[in-house]
Amino acid sequence: MLEIFQKAKENKYAIGAFNASNLEQLKAIIQAVKKLQSPVIISTSQGESKFIGKKQIRALIDSYKEETNLPIFLHLDHGKSFEVVQEAIEAGYDSVHFDGSELDFEENVEITKKIVDLAKEKGIKNVEGELGYLRGKSAVQEAVEIKEEDLTDPKKALEFVEKTGVDSLAMAIGNIHGVFKSAQNPNLFLDRLGEISKMVGDKAGLVLHGGSGTPEEDIKKAIELGIVKVNVNTELRLAYTEALKKSLQDNPDQTTPYKIMPIVVEAVQKVVEEKIKLFMSKVRP
Ligand SMILES: [Zn+2]
Repeated sequence: MLEIFQKAKENKYAIGAFNASNLEQLKAIIQAVKKLQSPVIISTSQGESKFIGKKQIRALIDSYKEETNLPIFLHLDHGKSFEVVQEAIEAGYDSVHFDGSELDFEENVEITKKIVDLAKEKGIKNVEGELGYLRGKSAVQEAVEIKEEDLTDPKKALEFVEKTGVDSLAMAIGNIHGVFKSAQNPNLFLDRLGEISKMVGDKAGLVLHGGSGTPEEDIKKAIELGIVKVNVNTELRLAYTEALKKSLQDNPDQTTPYKIMPIVVEAVQKVVEEKIKLFMSKVRP
């Protein structure tokens, strides 16, 4: 497992995993962690990594690591096939997520295990598996109801971790991707998280997807119960697009990108800073 997860668990804080697909988003995240001196995970989904280029984002992060001296990790978010994850590993990603949550249990175990074996061979320190179906997408959407039968089963979670050897596990505990249009996002099933945490123990780090819109109190309690990584995407996308629209509306004659984009970078940076403070991952003296 990544050392930053072990430290996070011992000291009851969580590492933010923020998605980026272009230089402005990346700049915003880096400026926030530089200001707050926090470790961070930069995530790219399949679509995001295809847009920016896997090798290109690797090179950008290497240059930011050199400049900031901070622990910055590049992570593949929701790789849906063995091949996609393999490509990320070959491009030099530090950490990978295989999302087999739509497959049946045995098939999910089989492919995840194959990825864990490949990752170990290549010296990758974090393979994230996923068990339990997560509703929603990283956008603003109509409310959906979360049912108890959607949630990850604690015994199955332990079986999954033991059979695959994953370093970290994403679960369904009432979290959703994205934010609801006209209601608050649902509360987490913290009792269920507590049961999973007890069952899995130190065998794997627990990951909370859907960090956007989830009630802050629930996130704090979830971190106390053992969450070591919280994924945030939608809130950054919203901050980005809203600021960009405003920038263009306020300056309709402006055509210089580096004059249009600073307020966009600033808006995304602000959200990242708020999340880092909530996750308490700021490096302590
Ligand atoms: Zn996710």
